[in-house]
Amino acid sequence: MLTLTTLASGSSGNCTLVSDGTTHILIDAGISARRITTALKGLGIPPQDLAGVLVTHEHTDHISGLATLTRQLDFPLYASGGTAVAMGRKVPVAPERMHTFRPGECFTVGGLEVETFPTPHDAAESTGYAISAHGRKAAVVTDLGYVTHAVERGIQGAHLLLAEANYEPEWLQSGPYPYFLKARIQGERGHLSNRAGAELACLGAEAGAATVVLAHLSKENNTPQRAYDTVRSALERQGAVIGRDVCLEVAPRDCTGTTYTV
Ligand SMILES: [Zn+2]
Ligand SMILES: [Zn+2]
Repeated sequence: MLTLTTLASGSSGNCTLVSDGTTHILIDAGISARRITTALKGLGIPPQDLAGVLVTHEHTDHISGLATLTRQLDFPLYASGGTAVAMGRKVPVAPERMHTFRPGECFTVGGLEVETFPTPHDAAESTGYAISAHGRKAAVVTDLGYVTHAVERGIQGAHLLLAEANYEPEWLQSGPYPYFLKARIQGERGHLSNRAGAELACLGAEAGAATVVLAHLSKENNTPQRAYDTVRSALERQGAVIGRDVCLEVAPRDCTGTTYTV
């Protein structure tokens, strides 16, 4: 069994629980430690049973709860070398707790196999993850400017894909963000638009994903409905029947989402 549950997803905080029922890991800890431990307890997982936290990159919306969490609980951290250095000052941990890797490498955490792949993002060395157990696989792909071949390879064989759909281009353009921020978000090291997220979702569905969960939506430049509609249309153009061939959902921003059995 493999399950995935988002505890928060969006530009204001990201945290995803992946579990095989015995080994429980978090991908990112971008909400408060209190919210994380409360959410874990709500899911029946004692926080001290956490087997590790995998960090995608050092942006605040992915690590804001990590410093407190590492003080409260004794779990190992996993991050690319670049991410580890970049978050070093904000998340001071003993070197023996920090396990670094180069994106592209694989390792195991308890019963979970972890594949890593580089993502193009304006961070030191951002990483996407694909987690497998018992022949089931979930891929977590957010915070990227575009879908690279490495990302495409990373999602191959994933039964569940957590895919970024960050912004609606017209809304971003006409919105209040300053020019440099708009350029950053839309750039090759920014975020995926709904249309780009739809392409990622289609690639995932082609590669075998039966569940696509849209994630990391912008609060200002997107809505769950808009993201859903854009991705749904793209999947339907590809011939998929939503609900039969692919389950399509949007991860909630500020609360624990559905627990998906992968
Ligand atoms: Zn982010
Ligand atoms: Zn980021």
